[in-house]
Amino acid sequence: MGHDALYKEIILEHHKDPRNHGLLESATASITKHNPLCGDNVTVQIKLSPDNKTVDDIMFSGSGCSISVASASILTDDVKGQSVEKTLKLIEQFRGVMQGNEKPEVLEGDVEALTGVRQFPVRIKCALLAWTALKELIENQNKEKSA
Ligand code: ZN
Repeated sequence: MGHDALYKEIILEHHKDPRNHGLLESATASITKHNPLCGDNVTVQIKLSPDNKTVDDIMFSGSGCSISVASASILTDDVKGQSVEKTLKLIEQFRGVMQGNEKPEVLEGDVEALTGVRQFPVRIKCALLAWTALKELIENQNKEKSA
């Protein structure tokens, strides 16, 4: 499958059947972000481990275009159960690729395919929405902890 076809396939698949979609009853923190360019809304909820080092659970909700939903689905799928350190690194790499500062090869699987959205510059904000939200959410948690 060519890279373009794979990109479309993955967006469609995650949009049709989003992973970790809904409300997280046990959430320890939550954030809502809006992309006015497209009208996307996303709420990301996480449950961190007591030491704040692991993303024990994560879910998202909201409404938006297929790219914003697929991107949130791919993100939550990848970081669930992951360490906070690796999660932040993945977010940095994804943002780096989307902003043209890194090559897509630093990423793997569905996340790498998702970077195909760079062909449509107006949609980059849709793809980044959930990622920016999660980064801010984790940073807020860290601030609260050290305050
Ligand atoms: Zn959008």
